[in-house]
Amino acid sequence: MRRPLLKTSLPGPKARAIIDESDAFISTSYTRDFPLVADHAEGAWITDPDGNEFLDVTAGIAVCATGHCHPRVVAAICEQAKKLVHMSGTDFHYGVQGDLAMRLARLGAVRGEGHRVYFGNSGAEAIEAAIKLCRYKTRRPGVLAFLGAFHGRTLGAVSATASKVVQRGHFGPLLPGFYHAIYPDPVRHGRDATRRAMEHIDVLLHRLVGPDELAAILVEPIQGEGGYVVPPDDFLGELRQLCDAHGILLVFDEVQSGMGRTGKMFAWQHVGVAPDVICLAKGIASGMPLSATIARSEVMDWPPGTHASTFGGNPVSCAAAMATLDLLEGELCANAAAVGAAARALLEQKVGTHPRVGAIRGRGLMLAVDLVRDRQTLEPDPALRHAVVERCFYSGLLVLGCGPSAIRLCPALSLGADDAATAVDILVEALAACAP
Ligand code: PLP
Repeated sequence: MRRPLLKTSLPGPKARAIIDESDAFISTSYTRDFPLVADHAEGAWITDPDGNEFLDVTAGIAVCATGHCHPRVVAAICEQAKKLVHMSGTDFHYGVQGDLAMRLARLGAVRGEGHRVYFGNSGAEAIEAAIKLCRYKTRRPGVLAFLGAFHGRTLGAVSATASKVVQRGHFGPLLPGFYHAIYPDPVRHGRDATRRAMEHIDVLLHRLVGPDELAAILVEPIQGEGGYVVPPDDFLGELRQLCDAHGILLVFDEVQSGMGRTGKMFAWQHVGVAPDVICLAKGIASGMPLSATIARSEVMDWPPGTHASTFGGNPVSCAAAMATLDLLEGELCANAAAVGAAARALLEQKVGTHPRVGAIRGRGLMLAVDLVRDRQTLEPDPALRHAVVERCFYSGLLVLGCGPSAIRLCPALSLGADDAATAVDILVEALAACAP
């Protein structure tokens, strides 16, 4: 079984030089929890400039779905780059963009027949497109989103985001017309989680905004940055009914949960409730910048000139996405389900009853371990989370936090069972060292 290989203290001398240069010239707004410098990578393994080898269960924030530098994705990128790098799909045609649009349109990502795709470059752009599309289509201004949600950093997306104050503070005024309801968390809200959330929505719809003013309900089927919170199975269906009753468009942000991460192509497929609009990014092109907003044709019928992007749907990104889809449909969705279930079982077995573990949750390879002060109050313990994440890094395992105090595992969907077991072992050791 391969283990991380640390040849220097961290960061090593070459990594230190890169960090010093980067810190001097790069925006101070970035959040870098530990000093990793990636030099090259393959599958789930990253090597730094000093030759240290790390097991990566971040996949570049849930992006490198097929593993770092999958040969088929790299080949598709190289071949396309030799033919055509850019021509701007907003003004001109090229084959690979149409091919990808057709392929995405046939995935059954949203309700109804006849789907269309808008291409952007990032998750936030997919959300911007969805907000604009829903407002345009319904001629209504309102958007209902959820506390704990993360939809991106651009002004529209951040208006819908309600994850951390630092992400919104001093950027106002944000877009008007955004409202936030409680997102149901079965761990902290118990069996009544959905009822409690729907009652809160009811209050908002009676006191702040009528349903006939809402263009969209925007929701993550599993909250990502908010803590990998999986809502109760009936929640999305309740939202669907509410939308149908009032002509509101239901938008799923599957930027993080989509493209096979949960063991199905889309997280909504676990509960069988399809949206009107879906936003995809992150894993869609294995690390090339690309996003897609998909709706049925009758919804996405805005006229030429209403919305576009110079780079969106770039040929090289589209080629990477075609190769990514081949791999996801071939075996990686199934691998995410199987290895995710095995990793979860190991976590349950090894730390399921640990006094500082409040919950182990997620689906497929979208897994989180929530660290708390004690199991009775479930009070989050961000300091412990930080200590464990740091300790993992110095043991050669790359993990990220999410939510107030969870550690997330969002590796390549190609992660092998052996590497998953190694990751769990190191995480368990780190927790034991930080919370003996
Ligand atoms: N939506 C969700 C659910 C996300 O997790 C993210 C990023 O983490 C975004 C949107 C924004 O994506 P991007 O950073 O590519 O703009």
